[in-house]
Amino acid sequence: MKNEILELKCIDMSVDGQGICKDNGLVVFVKGMILDEVAKVKIISDKKNMAFGIIDEMIKPSPYRIKSLCPISYKCGGCDYRYIDYDYQLVLKKRQLEQTFKNFNLDVKVDDVIKCDDPMYYRNKTQVPVREHQFGFYRKYSNDIVEFDECYIETRLANDILRDLKKELLSLHLDNTLRHILIKHALGTGEVMIGLIVNDFNVDYSEVADYITSKYKNIKSIILNLNNKDTNVILGNEEKVLFGNDFIIDEFEGIQFKISLKSFYQVNYHQMIKLYKQVEKKADINNESRVLDLYSGIGTISLFLARKAKEVTGVEVVEPAVNNAIENAKMNNINNANFILGDARDPMDKYLKDKDVVIVDPPRKGLNESLINSIINSNINKVVYVSCNPATLARDLTLLKDTYNIGNITPVDMFPYTTHVESVVLLTRI
Ligand code: SAH
Repeated sequence: MKNEILELKCIDMSVDGQGICKDNGLVVFVKGMILDEVAKVKIISDKKNMAFGIIDEMIKPSPYRIKSLCPISYKCGGCDYRYIDYDYQLVLKKRQLEQTFKNFNLDVKVDDVIKCDDPMYYRNKTQVPVREHQFGFYRKYSNDIVEFDECYIETRLANDILRDLKKELLSLHLDNTLRHILIKHALGTGEVMIGLIVNDFNVDYSEVADYITSKYKNIKSIILNLNNKDTNVILGNEEKVLFGNDFIIDEFEGIQFKISLKSFYQVNYHQMIKLYKQVEKKADINNESRVLDLYSGIGTISLFLARKAKEVTGVEVVEPAVNNAIENAKMNNINNANFILGDARDPMDKYLKDKDVVIVDPPRKGLNESLINSIINSNINKVVYVSCNPATLARDLTLLKDTYNIGNITPVDMFPYTTHVESVVLLTRI
């Protein structure tokens, strides 16, 4: 089978963007192939019930195939949809949601994906591993570093800063103790934070800090973070401020937000606002509503909703994020929002009590069953579920569907050129 060349038609797409073909019942995954394309495919490896191939010769290309702008996209793998027309990416994302729900026997309607007006240079958080004088991204499913000159989905300013930082660090021979560079760029205010993740706190990075902050006035914070553990977790526990504050500030809809190095913040600023407006619309709260915001991060959704609600309580497991949320409420004179450091896997009944609406925005692994059961056994009328993973969303909805009516799924494209799908859905108690 290996090295064999087969003429195949792409009949489906995998969740990580590979084309799926079938050869006499055998499933063949083909990197870079688009739905409905026909190609001669060279098999590069085969297992008992599946094989992997690459396009050897395109016979019928998709009308939505475009030339990738990025010279390293194929190697890097960060942008699995780089060679697909943007509007068609949205069609594929909607299709992925529909198929996932079908596989779970869920009868739900998926709206058209809310598109990103400017799908390039959108990412406000860049993470760059550094090793043996190389600065880049990890190749997909690997620890190899793929170097780049320009990344077309990170912000332009982050690209510029990174290029200059790299030059300076190399010329001062300061890259040996450096493990990662993290850049956060708040698009509402323009403020930038740089995190230098190092394995030695004794190395002096102040010359680099002076150089980069005199060149880029938007930089408001440079933080040294110590990580000398041999794991794939990027950030360590100890931090030192090298320049400015230990936070940056972003702003949207007249609310300001402090963001620290360790706090989660949505990576696509403009789409984040559209997402939160969908949450607001679906939650349909008024000045009587008592809202619980689980997985609240730095309190963005909580504070956005607090302006209309009677009260909002946020629960979040990362301490710096909770501290940011508390400060954010104060900074904006929002008095009806409070934040609790807590793990949503622990019993949440005492927080669910007396609430009308619950917002959940969990990480990719979704909700755990005990939380779902607590919600089912509560008096909560409305649940707004924000999900970044269709598979766990579908799994969780199957548990909730006997208690709640499932509204339309509204996808918002937070991650253009990648296969990632974000969506929001309203559940109403039956
Ligand atoms: N709603 C926020 C954050 C969403 S990301 C926003 O829109 O910005 C998910 C958040 O859940 C992260 O802040 C993460 O730190 C937090 N989190 C992850 N696991 C958690 C858990 N078990 N309990 C509570 N919070 C958790």
